[in-house]
Amino acid sequence: MNQILNHENLQPTTGFADLGIGATLLKAATASGMTEPKPIQREAIPHFLAGRDILGVAQTGSGKTAAFSLPILAKILGLGTKRRPRTARALILVPTRELAVQIEKVVRDLAKGAHVSTALVLGGVSRHSQIKRMAQGVDILIATPGRLTDLVREGQVILSETTWLVLDEADRMLDMGFINDVRRIAKATHPARQTALFSATMPKEIEALAASLLREPVRVEVSPQGTTAAEIRQSVVMARTKQKRKLLSEMLADGKMEQVIVFARTKHGADRVTKDLERDGFEAAVIHGNKSQNARQRALNDFREGAVRILVATDIAARGIDVPGISHVVNFDLPDEAESYVHRIGRTGRNGAKGEAITLCDPGEVSKLRQVERVIRKRLPISRDITNEADPAPLPRSASPEKPVRESAAGRPERKGEVKRARSKPPRSRRNRRRGQKGGAQSPASRAA
Ligand code: AMP
Repeated sequence: MNQILNHENLQPTTGFADLGIGATLLKAATASGMTEPKPIQREAIPHFLAGRDILGVAQTGSGKTAAFSLPILAKILGLGTKRRPRTARALILVPTRELAVQIEKVVRDLAKGAHVSTALVLGGVSRHSQIKRMAQGVDILIATPGRLTDLVREGQVILSETTWLVLDEADRMLDMGFINDVRRIAKATHPARQTALFSATMPKEIEALAASLLREPVRVEVSPQGTTAAEIRQSVVMARTKQKRKLLSEMLADGKMEQVIVFARTKHGADRVTKDLERDGFEAAVIHGNKSQNARQRALNDFREGAVRILVATDIAARGIDVPGISHVVNFDLPDEAESYVHRIGRTGRNGAKGEAITLCDPGEVSKLRQVERVIRKRLPISRDITNEADPAPLPRSASPEKPVRESAAGRPERKGEVKRARSKPPRSRRNRRRGQKGGAQSPASRAA
């Protein structure tokens, strides 16, 4: 048995090698911090290597990316480097651009030291560079359905040689109206392909999709449908919609919230929350479907690197985001679809870390709260109810830990308008950069989120 020592306790462990992963990938996995397989990896990898189709019901943050990337890489390493123009040996289809970028990074990290080429095909950025990248053919293509459908239709991408197909976050692709694109894309791949479908939830439509695309799949389920990570502390604060703005600022001023993602139901709502936060002295990045791909990626990078500690997001834009240090998720509104709650709060408590999720609930949203509770199969505790309180007094500016009151030259605190003006006008170089950006691709998803 090929044993690896776990350096923390120097006990021999049954690592990835026992699952059939070879030395090159093992080294890259270890370098990426993956020494012990996670349950989904332990279950899925041997079956995938054996050529079986996989139906994975996997909680967000469960480690499913490596569960499908490692066996695909293992199979590709056994092939030569000769590829046909415009083809891809493996296709990973995902609902959002952010998730595509994230997965490509994981794949590239895991492929370190091996000759494996990857490409990204996604909306909101130039098609030209994507077409150029595909010209020689690639090993692994990571794509969102809308742009890929366009390039396949134009003959810029050929899928007939694609023998590995992964549909990741299939339920979200369904929600985003991509189901027909997904079916068309799958049909264009090699008829004898191997397919893996991962979904956090398994509604009837996904069962039907799986039944039509997978052949005698092995079902891999790491946690019951709709459950949330045990490490996440969840609570509800009852607050009228009018009270939520001040309540959020109060909560953020506390300082215990190290890195926070705030979910709003709509794009407009996300913008409004961000503006209100800025008015209250908090710097926040915002990510939703009306932002250009570059703006979304920049917001995400700023958040990931800790340049801003608050990210305001809509459900679709935030899907699949893997930022390890998120301490809190605040649901400014309840989601329209109860299942989104599971995905939202899964942004925290990732990888075994502790996290907290707080939902602000207007009395008019109680029916949505009940739906969430049905999905997660438990009652959420109400930690506070301020609906009978008068609207809170405006926060003093000094309540913000990030933006202390600034003294002007005359020794008086600057007024709100002065601070705001100074902040709202970025340097010329940044303004130019922004002007050069177009809005995101108008996929059904980007219109929705
Ligand atoms: P995923 O569900 O694929 O987005 O993975 C969630 C997080 O778990 C990512 O930050 C991965 O880097 C991390 N991860 C995945 N597999 C392992 C592993 N075997 N050991 C440690 N961390 C892992």
